Amino acid sequence: MDGDMSRHIFVTGGVVSSLGKGLTSASIGMLLERRGLKVRMQKLDPYLNVDPGTMSPYQHGEVYVLDDGSETDLDLGHYERFTSGELNRRSNYTTGQIYSSVIDKERRGVYLGRTVQVVPHITDEIKAAILGLGEPGVDVVITELGGTVGDIEGLPFLEAIRQIPLDIGKENCLFIHLTLVPYLKAAREAKTKPTQHSVQQLREIGIQPDILIVRTERPIGREHTDKIALFCNVEKKAVIEEVDKEFSIYEVPVGLVEHGLDELICQKLSLKSGPLNMEDYRDLVHRIRNPQNEVTIAVVGKYIEHRDAYKSIYESLDHAGFHHSTQIHVKRIEAEELERQGPEMVLKGVDGVLVPGGFGMRGIEGKIQAIQYARQSETPFFGICLGMQCAVIEFARNVLDLKDANSTEFAADTPHPVICLLEGQKTINRKGGTMRLGAQPCVLVPDTRAARAYASAEISERHRHRYEFNPEYRKEFVQSGMRIAGTSPDGTLVEIVELAAHPWFVAVQYHPEFKSKPNIPHPLFRDFVQACLQRRLGRAVAISAPGDSIRAQG
Ligand code: GLN
Repeated sequence: MDGDMSRHIFVTGGVVSSLGKGLTSASIGMLLERRGLKVRMQKLDPYLNVDPGTMSPYQHGEVYVLDDGSETDLDLGHYERFTSGELNRRSNYTTGQIYSSVIDKERRGVYLGRTVQVVPHITDEIKAAILGLGEPGVDVVITELGGTVGDIEGLPFLEAIRQIPLDIGKENCLFIHLTLVPYLKAAREAKTKPTQHSVQQLREIGIQPDILIVRTERPIGREHTDKIALFCNVEKKAVIEEVDKEFSIYEVPVGLVEHGLDELICQKLSLKSGPLNMEDYRDLVHRIRNPQNEVTIAVVGKYIEHRDAYKSIYESLDHAGFHHSTQIHVKRIEAEELERQGPEMVLKGVDGVLVPGGFGMRGIEGKIQAIQYARQSETPFFGICLGMQCAVIEFARNVLDLKDANSTEFAADTPHPVICLLEGQKTINRKGGTMRLGAQPCVLVPDTRAARAYASAEISERHRHRYEFNPEYRKEFVQSGMRIAGTSPDGTLVEIVELAAHPWFVAVQYHPEFKSKPNIPHPLFRDFVQACLQRRLGRAVAISAPGDSIRAQG
């Protein structure tokens, strides 16, 4: 065996979807990194779309954007939050991409007239995508396979990973299968049969899992894990239970360490690793479990009932909360509901308002009302992408008195197009991958909230939009108190706006939520939550003051 060769870990899922396969894969990545290994992570998605960029948030949840502008699956967000390895467009492949590439090669005559087939042409393309990440210096590549074993569309991917041990040696590969052990209340028992069936299905395909991670609501104990080991042909110590976490997803890695998963993986792959270094992370988990304060933040959006649609926003708020030892209660508000009930009704008492990104005009007026409420009531406000654009529209209508000001995305013939199409977007009519995407530099204006938060003169943040602040209106806004705190280096594109005369009102054209980590909160989320906390504590003092004075009198 070549000691320097990258090892490959494959994570598959069985029984049901939504088991947290992405989270478990990311946790494994974290543990291996914290043993000093260099890790690369990858997700393979069996659906036919080329990428999730064109998919509805209801179908797919958030689209996670990388520095290089690729629009990827939200599991890559977990990877970035848990690990430090670089992610790029090779970190997420879909069936759509694999087939496009094979068909393109066929058109170019690469296959020299041979019949092009799923095996070997599609499977070779998948194997190349996986093995390509095993560059020199990379100790472990973790490839997560989307979907559930048994899905028709997942078969070529399973076939490809079945073949890989034959190509690079079985000793360099590890198959981890994640399943569910449900607890049946009526029988008062945890049930292992679905896991057995799922492993049977994998074995029919030719894959014998090396490690089983079983997700459970409550601890199931050795009796059950030993039984699973026997029926699934897996070592007893390699059946590991992953019980639902009480406080936070960030407890998952610690739970896996308690069951010796990192040790087991290193043994099975003969990885020469250092000791596990988790001290700072354990401190973080302690802080997560013992918050000293709490705040309530309203997130006013369009896809609010779909928890995954604003995944990274919720995570980033939590990260800032961890930093301030503050538990964040998110009040998720459907923008159209706010239109029906009015902002007072739904926002009264919240400590902060956040309006996230989005597309299309449904709910826009509700978002604008929420921003007006936050501005006038001096409630901390954070606008992100569409949230910034709505903040600009609100200011135009209610401060500059430009009635009917709008974005041309929602009203092409508005008399005051304060938000309009980016120059480069005017001639584009194809949908996928055509927005202003990925990392862009931004220069900060000294002595603004943004500059103070970042403590830096130039930053890089990720974008995903077609519209921008209309430069023709800049002067008017600035004169009336909306300051421009950050622009593109050539000064043409407005990236950050703020209200100086407000406790905390910052809105950005980019997506800061893609660059926050549990132990390094994003500076703007950190300061936003701090402002919310100050407002909360200030209010508590104001409420308690009369009581104190009565006590003092008594
Ligand atoms: N729809 C807006 C645009 O395309 C905002 C996009 C977003 O919030 N990601 O510019």
